[in-house]
Amino acid sequence: MTESSAASSVRAARDLFVDLTGHEPESVWSAPGRVNLIGEHTDYNDGFVLPFATPQRTRVAVAPRTDGRIRVASTFDPEPVEVALADLDALFPSDGAPRVPEWSAYPLGVAWALMHAASLTPDAVTGVDLAFASDVPVGAGLSSSAALEGATAAALSAAWDLSLDGATLAQVGRRAENEAVGAPTGIMDQMASTLGQPDAAIFLDCRTLEAQVVDLGFAPAGLELVVIDTRVKHAHSTGGYGERRASCEQGAAIMGVPSLRDVSVADLDRAQELMDDVTFRRVRHVVTENQRVLDTVEALRTDGPRAIGGLLDASHASMRDDFEISVPELDTAVEAAVAAGALGARMTGGGFGGSAIALVEHDRVAQVTEAVTRAFDAAGFTAPHIFTVSPSAGPARDA
Ligand code: ADP
Ligand code: MG
Repeated sequence: MTESSAASSVRAARDLFVDLTGHEPESVWSAPGRVNLIGEHTDYNDGFVLPFATPQRTRVAVAPRTDGRIRVASTFDPEPVEVALADLDALFPSDGAPRVPEWSAYPLGVAWALMHAASLTPDAVTGVDLAFASDVPVGAGLSSSAALEGATAAALSAAWDLSLDGATLAQVGRRAENEAVGAPTGIMDQMASTLGQPDAAIFLDCRTLEAQVVDLGFAPAGLELVVIDTRVKHAHSTGGYGERRASCEQGAAIMGVPSLRDVSVADLDRAQELMDDVTFRRVRHVVTENQRVLDTVEALRTDGPRAIGGLLDASHASMRDDFEISVPELDTAVEAAVAAGALGARMTGGGFGGSAIALVEHDRVAQVTEAVTRAFDAAGFTAPHIFTVSPSAGPARDA
């Protein structure tokens, strides 16, 4: 992400704010999206994940108002939505019948969840105007939703003079997404967004929610992380997700443990004897993927980022063969990237479409980009969207 693109996104938020209110914002806040480096479908099994924050960010221009109301607008949908802070409790938790446009439930839900987290009554806080602009692509696996939540939480914390840590802001974002929007997601995306550090990843234990910052060292090693957005969105991703979750629960029940977090690689022989082949392969993915996250953290700490390529490759093979959540476009992206010299590559995110990532020498990014583009063309796939992401910082004041 170049300076000018960051500056133009700040300007877009400011311009929208001025259109909305007729006056200048008091400040502009932002929060990043995220990419998951490794640890897929491990979150709901109480396991480990290793995401990092992206340079792509959602920005929000903000200023207080004196009438106890909150108004939100976005360049995605400039039709503003306005409610009294005192009415948020009647809107959320959502009973499945949204009474506000869906996108606005993210920032309004953050306001609602933040007031509860900080025990604030509506008469104790000022009203606000919020205008959003973003360069985080929606639905490309970069978690535009967590960026929107993180930016809102940071802006409102400042407006309301709260000093909450990143983990608390993440919990607020997750509550908004789960209970105000009604999307049953875990905490990974929000933690990655609110705890992000330059050139580092967040090693998150999804059982204890303990988070550690792990240096990635991509920049000093001359490495780039390339994202290949296949632009494929499969209709059966929701059903596929539910089925995988059910298999994991069944596998844990057969093994007599609360979750697959409690099954180790050494237990897999016994697991194979106890369950059908499909359930076993689902279990094997989760168990080996948890181990790969631990191995990746260890490799980063002892040998540096060049040592993790094989773990990324193994993660992809496990998702393709055991968890069966890849699609031809993702396999093509991974194979073409590795053939063109990537140190390792894997699909990232829930599967059935979305993006792949590849760890690539700085000097080979053009070669990998060209090879993947050519492979997509030869296979008759829609051209992918390919870009690099450098691991970045969490919420910040930009103006
Ligand atoms: P993602 O993988 O990008 O997080 P989600 O479906 O979880 O995809 O969240 C995307 C939704 O978040 C959008 O449909 C929209 O409702 C909301 N959203 C994200 N960014 C913005 C933004 N800048 N302005 C308005 N709404 C946004
Ligand atoms: Mg999301």
